[in-house]
Amino acid sequence: MSETDVLRAPQTGPIRLDDMPEGQISLIVFGPGRGEAIVLVLPDGSIGVVDGCREPEKNDPVGRGDPVRELLATMGRRRLRFVCLTHPHADHYPGLGRLLQWHRPEKVFVTLPLTGDYKKVFLAYSAALEKGVPPAEKGGLERFYAQVERFESSGGEINHMDERKLLLEENSLCGARLAIWSCGPAPADVKRTLNDLLGYAQAHATKAPLPPETIDPNIASGALHVHWGDAGLLLTGDLLRGEHPLSGWNKTESWLCPPGHPVQVINVAHHGSEGAHHDGLWAKLQPKLAIVTPFQNAQNGQPPKRSDLDRLASTATVVVTTPPAWLGTAGAASATPLGRVIPVTSRSTALKGIIEPALAINNAVAVSLDKTGAITRLILSGAASLYPFT
Ligand SMILES: [Zn+2]
Repeated sequence: MSETDVLRAPQTGPIRLDDMPEGQISLIVFGPGRGEAIVLVLPDGSIGVVDGCREPEKNDPVGRGDPVRELLATMGRRRLRFVCLTHPHADHYPGLGRLLQWHRPEKVFVTLPLTGDYKKVFLAYSAALEKGVPPAEKGGLERFYAQVERFESSGGEINHMDERKLLLEENSLCGARLAIWSCGPAPADVKRTLNDLLGYAQAHATKAPLPPETIDPNIASGALHVHWGDAGLLLTGDLLRGEHPLSGWNKTESWLCPPGHPVQVINVAHHGSEGAHHDGLWAKLQPKLAIVTPFQNAQNGQPPKRSDLDRLASTATVVVTTPPAWLGTAGAASATPLGRVIPVTSRSTALKGIIEPALAINNAVAVSLDKTGAITRLILSGAASLYPFT
C-alpha cells in the first residue's frame, strides 16, 4: 500500500469519535509513549476497549488525562460492548480500573485466570514493578481486579481469553458478519506463567526473592482477531513468538488466518520487537498497515529498533504513535523518566516547565475500513508519524 492508497488526514488534534465514518469499522490506537490502548469502533457506532495506557492522577468522571476515558466521555448513547485486558502488564492496564468504575461494558475479556493466592502474589509482583510511578498513579492493577470482581458479582459477563475462542459474534451488523476471536494465550503459556508465579512466591517465602523479571506476563498475552465482512484486524497485545512449538505465535499461526478471513491491519505485537515477530504468520497475512506503539518512547534499546521498523516497512505501510527516541532529530519527541512524551517544540512556549500529559495523550493513529477490507481513512494525531520519517 502506498501513501496515495489511503486518504490521509494531516496531523490533527485529538481524534474524535465523530471522525470515524458510520457503517465502517475503525480502530483508534493510543500510544502516548509508554503504554498502549485501543478503541475499536464497530460499524453501528458501538465501542470496544482493548487495554489502557494512562492512569489519571485524579479520579474524576471524565477521566481527564486518560485518552480512552476522554473519548468515552463523548460516546453518548453508544453501546460499550466490551473491555479487554490482553495481559496484566503496567503498559497495558493503566486506567482500566477507573474506566470500569465509571462505565459498565456488556462484557469483560481477561487473560491469566488469577484468583486467590495467585492474585495476591501477582499484585505484590506488579507493585514491585511500579517503582518510580507517581503515588497517585499506583495501584492500577489492583483497581482493575477490584472492578472486575464488582462487575462479576453484579451479574456481568466475564470471558477468559483462550486459543481460538469466539468472544463476540453478530451475523448481520450493518450488512456483514462480525466476529471477534481470542487467539491465545496457549494453555501451555498460561501454565508456565502461573508456575513462574509460584516460584516467585516460594522464593519470597524463603526470603530469597527473585527479581520481578523472572515472570513475564507477555508470554501469556492474549490477542484478538476481529473480522467484519472482508475487513480483518489483528490486535496482538504483547504476544511473543513462542519458544516452544505449542506456544505464542507458533501455536496460533496454524488457525489464525483461515481462508476468507484476511487481515489488513495489525496493531503490531509487543511494540514491534523482534521477539514478537513471526515471519511465517506475517508472510501468510500480508497486512497492509502495521501500527506500532513504541515502548517507553523506544529509549535505551526498548522496542522498536530501527531494524524492527525497517522489517515491517518492507511489506506494509508502517505508522508509529510517537517518534522513537533514537530518531534524535529536531521535532522528535523527548521523554521524562516516566515516559511522558512532550514535543520539544512546544515545551518552551506552552508548558513553562510543567509537564502536561494532555499534549502526549493525543498521540494516536486511527484507521477505518469498509466491509470489503479497503482502508478508507487514516488519521495521525499528535506526534504519530508514517515510517520512514520525512
Ligand atoms: Zn507492552
